[in-house]
Amino acid sequence: MTKTHEVIVVGGGIAGLSAAIYLGRARRDVLVIDSGHSMAKWEPVVQNYLGFPKGVAGDELLKNGRTQAQHYDARIVRDEIKTVAARKSFFILKGKRKAYRGKRLLIATGIFHLPPEIPGVKQCLGHSMFFCKDCDGYRVRGKRIAIIGQNDETVEYALEMLHYSACVIVVTNGKRARWDRQHARWLEEYEIPVSRKRIRDVDHRKRKIRALEFAGEASVKIDYIFTTRGDIFYNQLAKKLGAKLDPDGQIKVDQSMRTTVPRLYAAGCVTPANCQMIIAAGQGAAAAQAINRDLFEESLASHSLRRFRHEQLEKKKTVPEVSEPKPRRRKK
Ligand SMILES: Cc1cc2nc3c(=O)[nH]c(=O)nc-3n(C[C@H](O)[C@H](O)[C@H](O)COP(=O)(O)OP(=O)(O)OC[C@H]3O[C@@H](n4cnc5c(N)ncnc54)[C@H](O)[C@@H]3O)c2cc1C
Repeated sequence: MTKTHEVIVVGGGIAGLSAAIYLGRARRDVLVIDSGHSMAKWEPVVQNYLGFPKGVAGDELLKNGRTQAQHYDARIVRDEIKTVAARKSFFILKGKRKAYRGKRLLIATGIFHLPPEIPGVKQCLGHSMFFCKDCDGYRVRGKRIAIIGQNDETVEYALEMLHYSACVIVVTNGKRARWDRQHARWLEEYEIPVSRKRIRDVDHRKRKIRALEFAGEASVKIDYIFTTRGDIFYNQLAKKLGAKLDPDGQIKVDQSMRTTVPRLYAAGCVTPANCQMIIAAGQGAAAAQAINRDLFEESLASHSLRRFRHEQLEKKKTVPEVSEPKPRRRKK
């Protein structure tokens, strides 16, 4: 029969690995199931993670995280979970390769940023094409920046990027602009140029974007693209278990990363947090602490902590002895 783990973490990205380190160090039997597509892999130099003044590759952060989690006895397997069901005291998960059982479940499955619908720019992702101003605004200071999109968020992105560079253009890529009057007024007030032409091609060399080429002969020289097409939240497992989602599809959690379903937790970009590595790591740690406390309380209620202690004593054959102080002799 399949073993029942104390905790199963679905997703071995930043949030999942951080949780695994905490749970391993709390001496919990934790299994991380990961399909291997963390977004962190896309970032060649993470500059905003505490403790790396010269930056660190996202891939290296993940590799070190896995080594650290395994050092504390967390198990990590490669699989993709397809479905999940709740039983009275555990969850059953079915992956492409195997089935798993866990008393507590942490969903740290992340999201997918939709890339712009422009051919041939995939290789520029993380080098000269970005999704996140908080991660990448600083590195494009003073450069020529195109914001691709058609809605209010696109306009606000363009306005916020003015803090980093005076040279910002909005490109709707042939789509109808859907921003409201206020946003249109801001575009005018700040004299941000708008191109409504369809992008035919992107001129780039060695992952560095050089220009956008529009249908017809027009083109515009730029250095960086930011895109605001939206995200897909990997929330299917939480949905299947009946957890509440917000209107965007993010899994609702409380401060301890508890979802609305008992024994089910969520952390990282699949929750309403700002999608940043250090926040995902913090949320993973917070979820792990809450899960550990939850299991502790359960072990007190079921007396399994007592049995666990007896097993340890059996193994070591030692019982802590309390030594009484010897009575002092009275001086004559
Ligand atoms: C191009 C790019 C650059 C970025 N740069 C920065 C930056 O400089 N600084 C910063 O702070 N953030 C950056 N980010 C964001 C950062 O990558 C995320 O904040 C972080 O990875 C979120 O961690 P997470 O654990 O929530 O999700 P992820 O790290 O994406 O991990 C989710 C994991 O879950 C797995 N998974 C999903 N579904 C299943 C399933 N059904 N079964 C098993 N496994 C599953 C995935 O394979 C993946 O490994 C960047 C993102 C991108 C795309």
